[in-house]
Amino acid sequence: MDQKVRVRFAPSPTGPLHIGGVRTALFNYLFAKKHQGTFILRIEDTDQNRYVANAEKYIIEALNWSNIPFDEGPGKDGGYGPYRQSERKDLYKKYADELIESGNAYLAFDTSEELDFHRKDHQEKGKTFIYNWHNREKLCNSLTLSSEEVREKIDNGEKYVVRFKSPVNESLVLNDMIRGEMKIDTNILDDKILFKSDGMPTYHLANIVDDHLMDITHVIRGEEWLPSLALHVLLYRAFDWKTPEFAHLPLILKPTGKGKLSKRDGDKLGFPVFPLAYTNDDTGEVSIGYREDGYFSEAFINMLAFLGWNPGTEQELFSLKELIEAFDIKKVGKSGSKFDAEKTKWFQHQYLIRKSDQEIANLFIPTLEKHLGNSFDKELDLEYITNVVGLIKERATFVNDLWDLGNFFFIAPESYDEKAAKKNWKEETSTLMSELSDMFKKLTDFSSSHIETELKAWITSKEIGFGKVMQPLRLSLVGALKGPHLPDIASLIGQKETVSRIRRAAERLG
Ligand code: GLU
Repeated sequence: MDQKVRVRFAPSPTGPLHIGGVRTALFNYLFAKKHQGTFILRIEDTDQNRYVANAEKYIIEALNWSNIPFDEGPGKDGGYGPYRQSERKDLYKKYADELIESGNAYLAFDTSEELDFHRKDHQEKGKTFIYNWHNREKLCNSLTLSSEEVREKIDNGEKYVVRFKSPVNESLVLNDMIRGEMKIDTNILDDKILFKSDGMPTYHLANIVDDHLMDITHVIRGEEWLPSLALHVLLYRAFDWKTPEFAHLPLILKPTGKGKLSKRDGDKLGFPVFPLAYTNDDTGEVSIGYREDGYFSEAFINMLAFLGWNPGTEQELFSLKELIEAFDIKKVGKSGSKFDAEKTKWFQHQYLIRKSDQEIANLFIPTLEKHLGNSFDKELDLEYITNVVGLIKERATFVNDLWDLGNFFFIAPESYDEKAAKKNWKEETSTLMSELSDMFKKLTDFSSSHIETELKAWITSKEIGFGKVMQPLRLSLVGALKGPHLPDIASLIGQKETVSRIRRAAERLG
């Protein structure tokens, strides 16, 4: 690439960022970094009716949490600011005027009542009203009115919009890095509004002007913008500006594959569709987020990267650095990709088990404090917690799962699983367990392997089945028939605690 790559993520701050938006940001980020380019955040807030005050903050926080921060954007000027369209609003009018001047746009005075009338009228005749070459010569605009009439209307304060004058009878060739070449008949295009009567540009005009002024080289965005591509390409042509390259990313589909993934799908299946939890200030409605649900951002990003892209190899786990290296926009697929909540959890699990026991232990401490109070000494206990993590993390998906999986490492069982006790604690069990506790008490080596050997030898010498001892022993130490290898548990909680737990169970269950 001869020109320095500059890409932008251009969300409208209308609410929390959907994971589809984060995926768009991610692919822009990967593309930029792959080509030593610049990743820009531009806030497209020209539609004041849909503006949500805390959305921009949310977007920035989400990008930062995901580890894909922007290089240029609000608060990070790279010489192309401002990066909020509302702060650029004065510069768009002159571009609308330029298009009127060159005959590529015109003023339209039709009131909404008039347009409604035409729509209804067409509908009654079984047709669809489109404001374009078909009708524009019959409507109230600067193509049909004389320049005096136009002047008079403006002087009278009549409201008008600026519409693009789509070309007639042309087969327009469009190029997309993912979809290849597409041809479109310009007669089907409508004359989109570029500039509104309230003095604000529409998305189309502001987006093209800013991409041009910000030297954007590649536009990577969601498939929902594909229908706008023809207009955008025509606008570049009308301005005589260099057209950037385009890539329209496939949709993220519902787990069923039918339709776009929505917040409701997430609610129904209990998984987040937003990176961070979000509270709607108006309704008070709270939406769950990946961060708050306990996902690691690396897992979240790895999962997102695979929604639409794949490296073409067997490898599934990619660090951000590896993603940058492997990413190729040409390997992004055309068809929508199904969101898979189970696969998302799988990624999280993979990242959890790959982190060091000590790192997880540190992350586990707040959960322990929540359950145990400040009673334990973090510094002193870190080694212990790390060992616990080593024994149970294989079964965990989230750090929070560790408590359910291993609370017995921190507190002796208060009660015993009733069903399991009934089935496994027989009349003679208490006596047997007391004897076992005596044997444990005498051991001079309380390592897991030594415990295992001695335990086996002891059971064999008693000439009884293993289950008769192992199940009650597990109940004694854990309180239920779950948990890792018993000798590992005993060794870790220690000799004194092991003996006392067995005696306690023998007393209570006897
Ligand atoms: N503001 C548009 C959006 O909200 C940007 C579309 C584009 O990237 O051109 O998605």
